[in-house]
Amino acid sequence: MDLGLAGRVALVAAASKGLGRAVAREFAREGARVAMFSRDQERITAAAAAIRDETGAEVLALTADARRGDDIERVVAETVRAFGQLDILVTNAGGPPAGTFETLSEQDFVDAIELNLLSTLRMCRAVVPHMKERGGSIVTITSISVKQPLDGLILSNTARAGVVGLVKSMANELGPYNIRVNNVGPGPTRTDRILDLARSRAERAGILLDEALRANARGIPLGRLGEPEEFARVVVFVASPAASYLTGQTILVDGGLYRGAL
Ligand code: NAD
Repeated sequence: MDLGLAGRVALVAAASKGLGRAVAREFAREGARVAMFSRDQERITAAAAAIRDETGAEVLALTADARRGDDIERVVAETVRAFGQLDILVTNAGGPPAGTFETLSEQDFVDAIELNLLSTLRMCRAVVPHMKERGGSIVTITSISVKQPLDGLILSNTARAGVVGLVKSMANELGPYNIRVNNVGPGPTRTDRILDLARSRAERAGILLDEALRANARGIPLGRLGEPEEFARVVVFVASPAASYLTGQTILVDGGLYRGAL
């Protein structure tokens, strides 16, 4: 199947490592032109160079904090200036800290909403004007927690639920411009974030890292963590012209971990 991505321009947020980087790499492998950003100039430049060397694609490295509206406006403007168009946006940012209703402060909730909900809103607001004439596609990266809230992650459970409402409403309102808006939620996927969490759990419990990772995979029907590339391939398909009749949907890439029937 041809995904129809050759020559298309994709902007990928929070992409120096982990899921964002894997998504940027997959777009490049499919012949898209890619702009990718994160907060650290050195890291994003190195990630972009590695993808460029591997794929031969045009890859632009930009520095921005997903929480800052002015940064977002700038990276969108720089992408359009460099490539002359913007067809695809993939929103992403770091995850909020763990905690519970009783241990977290109101400010923690405000910060999580800023990091995961308002950053998504700001990225969408910045790109839509560039997509209205030619159509476009937006994919938000959230979490399995939008369908099955995760224990100890009340900040993620709360802020990401808002992203789903935003996605569904935007899909309805922007469909007439041929702008598709979808959400993809990862289950446990082997990135630095998961490895760091497992490492600290292993230290606390006095067990090996491998053992902590195996515990992470318990309850997943496929019996293992996902790999970033497995997640990225779904995001890139959903974002691509090949998925031209798909909008307003949430798709989980979780090895079957979500237990609901629908
Ligand atoms: P990661 O820590 O491996 O990578 C995060 C990336 O985001 C890095 O490039 C970092 O520099 C960048 N980043 C963080 N905050 C940023 C900001 N404010 N502005 C710009 N860039 C920023 O994490 P990951 O595993 O790739 O996770 C990506 C997202 O998916 C997170 O929100 C995470 O909570 C969520 N998620 C991950 C998993 C998983 O298993 N990996 C599962 C569910 C949800």
